Amino acid sequence: QAKSLGKDQYQIFVPHMYQKAYQRLQIETDLRQAIQQRAFILYYQPIIDLITGNVIGAEALIRWQHPTQGWISPADFIPIAEETGLILKLGNWTIKQACHQLHLWQQNNIVDSSFSISVNLSAYQFAHSNLLEQIDAILAETQISPQCLKLEITETAIMENVDAAAQVIASLRQRNIQLSIDDFGTGYSSLSYLHSFPVDNLKIDKSFVQRVNDKSDSFGLVNAIVQIAKTMGMKIIAEGIETDNQLEQLKLLDCQFGQGYLFSKPLDVEEMTKFMASFRKA
Ligand code: C2E
Ligand code: MG
Ligand code: MG
Ligand code: MG
Repeated sequence: QAKSLGKDQYQIFVPHMYQKAYQRLQIETDLRQAIQQRAFILYYQPIIDLITGNVIGAEALIRWQHPTQGWISPADFIPIAEETGLILKLGNWTIKQACHQLHLWQQNNIVDSSFSISVNLSAYQFAHSNLLEQIDAILAETQISPQCLKLEITETAIMENVDAAAQVIASLRQRNIQLSIDDFGTGYSSLSYLHSFPVDNLKIDKSFVQRVNDKSDSFGLVNAIVQIAKTMGMKIIAEGIETDNQLEQLKLLDCQFGQGYLFSKPLDVEEMTKFMASFRKA
């Protein structure tokens, strides 16, 4: 009795640090298993033409159904997947799955050939994988034309490995695959690097979008970003539009595309299919 009591007490007083490390290790172990068991699913968030109201594409966002912890947010497991290199397998699966889904939507006439699918890329995928070969194989297998695939990269990811990024970006452009800079404004944010990394789209981070109605800094900042983008021939996509007011301000600022809870939260395949069908009738 005494012995087991002692043991229990010992466990209670495990320092917090160890618990954290243990939890991390547990997630890493679970992540490995989840990749084998394919415990992931993609959700899709509609991207809207703010002028016409049409759905012009969707962003694929990964979700993990953990056996005991329920749904785990990508913000919590993508960083671990990156540190452990597991992101290579996971990232490949994500691109394949998204392209496969787009192909199905195309076949069923849910979307036309102008509709694109956006997939997030991690910095690690740039530097360490045979990303281009993988993408070539996926496009061939799913019969998706390269213009229908958009890859999203953050400024931080580019800056982490400038040389690899420049090479990969150039090769992707040669293939006519579209590129977007994600979370624009939150990272390194040196506007000068945009010249070295020509991309098709800038996604304005939701932190700016959500403050755009207080006539102060954000309005001016978003205005500046839109002007720069125009000068450089890039399209602007506003992230995290939640209110009618934000939408109105963005339209005033000449921002043409956007996504956010105002239109729809990320949806599973069935919901997204319904969403697009109802949108077409409207
Ligand atoms: P992100 O690429 O910037 O994706 C946008 C995030 O904002 C998503 O969070 C989305 O659900 C959320 N969001 C959309 N509309 C609104 C809104 O109106 N208000 C607010 N407050 N949030 C909104 P989510 O799905 O949790 O993903 C978080 C991040 O995880 C993503 O940010 C992306 O960086 C990363 N991520 C997601 N899926 C993948 C993936 O397949 N691969 C990689 N490498 N990263 C991924
Ligand atoms: Mg994104
Ligand atoms: Mg973003
Ligand atoms: Mg992000």
